[in-house]
Amino acid sequence: MKLPHLLGNPRLKEALASLPPSGVGSAVLLDGPAGIGKRTAAADLAAGLVCPAENGPCGTCPSCKRALAGSHPDLIWLTEAEPGKGVKLEQVRQLRAQSFLRPSEAPFKVFVIPQADRLNPPSQNALLKVLEEPASSVFVLLCENREAMLQTVRSRCKTFRLAPLEQGELLDALRVRSTEPADRLQAAAAQAGGLLGRALDILSGQEKAGYAAARAFCASLGGDELGIFLACQELGKLHREEYADFCDESCRLLAGSVMQTGNRRFVDIFEYLEKQRAMLVQNPSVTALSGALAAFCGAL
Ligand SMILES: [Zn+2]
Repeated sequence: MKLPHLLGNPRLKEALASLPPSGVGSAVLLDGPAGIGKRTAAADLAAGLVCPAENGPCGTCPSCKRALAGSHPDLIWLTEAEPGKGVKLEQVRQLRAQSFLRPSEAPFKVFVIPQADRLNPPSQNALLKVLEEPASSVFVLLCENREAMLQTVRSRCKTFRLAPLEQGELLDALRVRSTEPADRLQAAAAQAGGLLGRALDILSGQEKAGYAAARAFCASLGGDELGIFLACQELGKLHREEYADFCDESCRLLAGSVMQTGNRRFVDIFEYLEKQRAMLVQNPSVTALSGALAAFCGAL
């Protein structure tokens, strides 16, 4: 199997290279922050599963062409009811019924489930039942935060973690895709932490509110308590889904800071945000969470 459209990720590609389509297993989890290339990887993986070539996707056969155009009958992408909200319980139930149907022409039916970590526990349990059924289906789950998924679901999946691009690699990719001036490309590459999708969002002014808030919050941690307090106050304006984005992104940024500085305080805040992220499935008030975070950071 290969991932011809995914940039970088030499280790992942090497791991997949020795794997025939039948060796992928019935459930795959592609794990990594938003903008890292999970959808690109899933599209390649799905095409490889329906392509008759041994080391697919070949990219040229009718199966590949239809898979990459989104019109292959054995390849089903679940779509989020609302952007950022993940798929719904009803969709998971329908998926179960579909997974029992034989594939039309490929050896497998392939289901791609975006934002599997945003499924609530009842939906994850419904998904678990699907994964446990022996059927000629392969499920490709995408997630930003593995820890937000039930252990029972995670343990059923073969997990592949995607890696961010090197800075130079990211800049090269941006130069091909954007006509913005060099200094803007450099700035976006520096802010995006190796994530191509994120850099493109920053360039087009479409960065998600939760990610921008995470950058502001993490930057405030280097300053005084008033700055942290103000950053936390801004968090109170986020919607719940945006707060989940904020937690995921802050944890990613803090993990990077911990590696660079070894600062114990960053570890504490990281762990605190992971707890808040896990609590979000219970629909708490975002104002209460951001207030508690300010108190935890000593800014209240
Ligand atoms: Zn092919």
